[in-house]
Amino acid sequence: MPMPQVSPQSASPIAEQALQILQKTYGFEAFRGAQEDIIQHITGGHHAFVLMPTGGGKSLCYQIPSLLRAGTGIVISPLIALMQNQVDALQQLGIRAAAINSNMSGADNSAAKTALMQGQLDLLYVAPERLLMEDFLSLLDEAPVALFAIDEAHCVSQWGHDFRPHYKQLSLLAERYPAVPRIALTATADAPTRRDIIDCLRLEDGRSFVAGFDRPNIHYTIVPKDNARAQVLRFIKEKHAEDSGIVYCLSRKMTEETAMWLCNEGFEALPYHAGLDAETRAQHQDRFLKEEKIIMVATIAFGMGIDKPDVRFVTHMTIPKNIEAYYQETGRAGRDGLPSDALMIFGTQDAAMQRNFIDVSTAPEAQKRIEHQKLNALLGLCETAGCRRQAVLEYFGDSCEPCGNCDTCQTPPQTFDGTIAAQKALSAVYRTEQRFGTGYLISVLLGEKDDERIQRFGHDQTSTFGIGTEFGKTEWKSVFRQLVTLNFLAVDSDHGGLSLTPRGKAFLKDKETLQLRLHESRSARKPKAASTPLPDEGDIDQSLLDALKTARRTLAQAQSVPPYVIFHDRTLREMAARKPQTLEQMARLHGVGERKLVKYGKTFLDILRGRD
Ligand code: ADP
Ligand code: ZN
Repeated sequence: MPMPQVSPQSASPIAEQALQILQKTYGFEAFRGAQEDIIQHITGGHHAFVLMPTGGGKSLCYQIPSLLRAGTGIVISPLIALMQNQVDALQQLGIRAAAINSNMSGADNSAAKTALMQGQLDLLYVAPERLLMEDFLSLLDEAPVALFAIDEAHCVSQWGHDFRPHYKQLSLLAERYPAVPRIALTATADAPTRRDIIDCLRLEDGRSFVAGFDRPNIHYTIVPKDNARAQVLRFIKEKHAEDSGIVYCLSRKMTEETAMWLCNEGFEALPYHAGLDAETRAQHQDRFLKEEKIIMVATIAFGMGIDKPDVRFVTHMTIPKNIEAYYQETGRAGRDGLPSDALMIFGTQDAAMQRNFIDVSTAPEAQKRIEHQKLNALLGLCETAGCRRQAVLEYFGDSCEPCGNCDTCQTPPQTFDGTIAAQKALSAVYRTEQRFGTGYLISVLLGEKDDERIQRFGHDQTSTFGIGTEFGKTEWKSVFRQLVTLNFLAVDSDHGGLSLTPRGKAFLKDKETLQLRLHESRSARKPKAASTPLPDEGDIDQSLLDALKTARRTLAQAQSVPPYVIFHDRTLREMAARKPQTLEQMARLHGVGERKLVKYGKTFLDILRGRD
């Protein structure tokens, strides 16, 4: 074990002990960001609100204080299906963790309760529904409790995007256990949501830790929909043929069809949506966690709390409903810090569908207005000519320089004076009675005489017929898409017919000018190397890496846990690059703590020694 590096700020005994645990138990070298402050604060018996991006390292913020304080840390999490995985991963580190929930056997649940009462548990995971049962609360009255960690705390708030009524009742923790520290954690919360969480969980006296939102290892790309399947297939084949990933779809039916199609293309793809029975869902989730190279094709029902570290890509076949959802969903990629990709296919018809969902929902009008604004912000992100990361971070009140690791940074879109093009497009809509879709309108602008419908409707007689020959179909499509995004045109969600909005009418009347994004031909896209610094790995011996992965798979299968619970990809990559020859050398690698060194060190050393 390397000697702990005691920095001037960490001279307090708590900080020293925390660092010892980080290095010996977890095998990590140093704390990240605010982790150390948060751990000191909670261990000292105070409350906290923690907002950190997915993959930012929230778990350590309550796990280490639970180890340092007397009694058990109670972790309240909404997803019982994932608790076992968390418990497995902790047990691999030698931490005494358990879960109590309806998925476990009665015997396991009572064993966990006994351990809790006897002070023999470091961490206990429960769902809010369970925690709030009177018999469980009366157990807690008697048990030594180190802290309450409220994970996915945005579920407390109606302003959040995943309100769960049970979470609201967690306000009783403050009344019933005022002396126990409470730490609320979330990856997504705008200002009203944050206020709600702090109110409800009574964290006014605690501290708020709001970490930078950036996920520098994720590369963002948003492309206009051309042929979504072909676009996704090219992306996966070219960049992620050997990887695990998630493909988000809008509807249940679409997830099933897309999964089937990907299987036909030779990939291992599984559907996941709320309409599948619980057993199938659990099985698919389990395979995604435990096997390699699985593509999960899912609705938004999938993903919360999934902490698989090696998801290499997240693709949106259709647009998400707002930037919060986009950032949370794409944040599931690359939690291990290795380079990962987020690709969104952006079609105006999908935008219209999202609008329609909001309109037909039963939410109050004020809520609908908020949802519409959130959708507009997302569409703005899709059409921005600036850095994507900058746009997203600004949305969350954070900031960064142009990142060099997104599509618009790497291939800056050009803009042009689109005033005349916009006038022509809007007139074409107006002159054809505001009921046709983009394809037809483009035929009119291009003067396609042989379009039988144009003849039938007599639109070859309108003043806009054939006035748009300076552009081709693709360029016009881009102009129409931007006019929809800018809210100059509205799309009828049933038939895709376009009509002028008040904003569009004002543009024509007031003779405004307008800059539009030039449609970039795909051949012009030359991806540059990421400018973000990533872990320095040195040269990886690929055949050695494959051998290490095989050993990991065998160990994982024997214990029926996911491979990453044994070692993360990052650890294996470091092994394959640095080729440690002794246990001491191996102990210096990322993610190799004392327990794992004892359990697995020899197996991996044998492979490494055989190679050098
Ligand atoms: P979150 O809950 O915020 O999404 P996690 O707690 O799951 O994030 O952490 C994300 C990943 O980062 C995990 O694989 C975790 O082991 C790793 N990690 C967390 N803190 C550190 C650290 N200080 N050094 C190295 N790796 C860390
Ligand atoms: Zn950028």
